Amino acid sequence: MVEPLFCNIKRKSTLYRCVSDFFGVCSYFILEQDKMIIIDPGKLEVNTIEWLNRFNNLRKVVYITHEHFDHHYHANKVLSLPQTFLYIPTVSFSQALLDIRKNLSYYYNQIVQTYSKSITDISYLKVLKTPGHSIESYCFLYEDIVFGGDTIINTDYLVLKLPGSSKVNYKQTIKFLNQTIPPDTIVMPGHGNYFFYSNWNL
Ligand SMILES: [Zn+2]
Repeated sequence: MVEPLFCNIKRKSTLYRCVSDFFGVCSYFILEQDKMIIIDPGKLEVNTIEWLNRFNNLRKVVYITHEHFDHHYHANKVLSLPQTFLYIPTVSFSQALLDIRKNLSYYYNQIVQTYSKSITDISYLKVLKTPGHSIESYCFLYEDIVFGGDTIINTDYLVLKLPGSSKVNYKQTIKFLNQTIPPDTIVMPGHGNYFFYSNWNL
């Protein structure tokens, strides 16, 4: 089920969310007048794909917070919609989306590989490189909202023991985020409900 969360009067945009029954991944959709920004197309329900089909006339750009397969499970499906592009921050990121060991799908007896066919490197969001949970972790800023992936996330969901995780890098990332993100920013995490950045207790 896709639910509206916030409206931004200034940008005339609405933020929607759906929560997957597969690892509870949160997918987000920012609907603007002339485009849609999609963050983390995890395993989506059929009715979510149907809902997306309503916006076939809009340009859509897909962002993925990190390489783990649960966050881009249905990216190929979404990318097959008209006028839909994948934002790719680096070449190594697109390689990790294809690598079933790096994206962890191999360890769950699944093969999830997101192909970088229609890509763009022009971003509508401010892109922050935030390694720690994984090598290719990113957070994305939109006005006073940050999409935190598995990086800015409540301790109940924080995992730093996976292949590619690094506690040292995560510590540096926290330092960087504290210097970069205003405290009254709303965090939209990869799992769990949203919260203010100032209320993030690690
Ligand atoms: Zn992850």
